[in-house]
Amino acid sequence: MLSAALKKSQGVKFCLIWLGLMCAIDARADYHYRVSAELDLKKLTVDLCFKGQAPEKLVAESLDASVALLGAWHESGEPITLSGFIPTAGLPEGACIHYQVDISRGVQRHDMTGPKVYKSIAATAVSNGLWFWRPEIIPQNRQVFVEFKLPADYSLSTPWSLTESEGVLEVPATPFDWPSWIVLGHFFKKEMIVNGTHFDISILDGSPTPDAEALAEWIGQEVAYVQSALGEIPFSNVQVFILPNARARQPVPVAYVTRGGSPTLHLMINQRRDMQEFYDDWTVTHELSHLFLPFISPDDAWFYEGFASYYQYVVRARKGLLSPKKAWSNLLYGFRRGSREAEARGLTLREATQKMYQGEPFMQVYWGGAAMMLIADVQLIKQSNGSWSLDRVIQEFNLCCMDRTRAWTALEVLSIFDELYGYPLFVPLMNRYVNVNEFPDMDDAFQSLGLVASEGDVMLSDDADQRSLRDLIMFIPSQ
Ligand SMILES: [Zn+2]
Repeated sequence: MLSAALKKSQGVKFCLIWLGLMCAIDARADYHYRVSAELDLKKLTVDLCFKGQAPEKLVAESLDASVALLGAWHESGEPITLSGFIPTAGLPEGACIHYQVDISRGVQRHDMTGPKVYKSIAATAVSNGLWFWRPEIIPQNRQVFVEFKLPADYSLSTPWSLTESEGVLEVPATPFDWPSWIVLGHFFKKEMIVNGTHFDISILDGSPTPDAEALAEWIGQEVAYVQSALGEIPFSNVQVFILPNARARQPVPVAYVTRGGSPTLHLMINQRRDMQEFYDDWTVTHELSHLFLPFISPDDAWFYEGFASYYQYVVRARKGLLSPKKAWSNLLYGFRRGSREAEARGLTLREATQKMYQGEPFMQVYWGGAAMMLIADVQLIKQSNGSWSLDRVIQEFNLCCMDRTRAWTALEVLSIFDELYGYPLFVPLMNRYVNVNEFPDMDDAFQSLGLVASEGDVMLSDDADQRSLRDLIMFIPSQ
């Protein structure tokens, strides 16, 4: 145990190491990280202080975090013995520890979920799972703050929230094993606030040099489309992480969302493609649509992938980026692909969903889920004479019930959808189709909408009721 006087003197030592500005923030969080890096971005040096009692131990999300950890030390300089985690039980109240992490290369020894370090010419992106040693669970009433001290003119992007103190970020209480990333160094960074959501866009350099301003403008436009078609994104922070140099014919061949801290859109782009191709592509519309649902278990991917696959065309039709006829035709094409795949493989939707993350086909999963979203949307509108819709269910769910810091199951979310609507619709639909090898029956929905599938195309009826139902989905509802 350290004496109070020694602790105090070491507090001063930490302050001397740090900038005077940082020391001024005495109103420490429960866990307060001070992170520094040199110009070469080869390692991160972290000082972590606990306001009161330290947690039992610190863990990191990546299995390779122990490999990248260069060491951890007590305030006295005495090394801490590591054993797959950093033990912190028994530290005196207000103690600090110190550790260093190698970020010079993407270690891949035990963790096969992809590289955890990405280096461009002048910037480094690091998975927080590699360096951010933290308590396994952050209790709701505990604050975690992180301050960075980087070389002058280096930029920083994180999925964490800004606080009133400049340079101090707050880490939301999402589970430690939800992946997230930071970016350090010279890269293009743009922040924008759209309808109350703070977007932090980082674009790494590449060869050829991407037109970062044009790409950021494109993201801003996509955000505006989705927000005006679906309502406010229910997160206060969204990080957008753009990596150029993808080799593909499409402008955005790989895209996904991670949820650690705040949601992050990861976009691997081919910057050689013309900007118009980015504007014509639905990928970012799809990814942004994911943000209208909380994190849902991958076992239920049919729900969130179906949801985003449905809205990727609905949103773009509502914004006039494709004609309603083309949007219907694209949906029908997707349903056909999903239904053929289900027939050919003979798997239930649940089985197909489980196999998808092992690299197996995913059309049944995406389009089976999207088919259920369309069936539900049509039923909601028809049963309620237009006063309910999938849009409204989502908006009400996000207002009342969305917990952003835990994983949900499809059943939990859909049960609340039914409660909000006041009639069992979503859960019976799920129960009807998830455990069978049968693509959702679209006949009633198509009949109500006046859609007739013809070879490679869709015919739309002239019937006024059918047309108005179609319009309620593909046009922005009057506010
Ligand atoms: Zn998706």
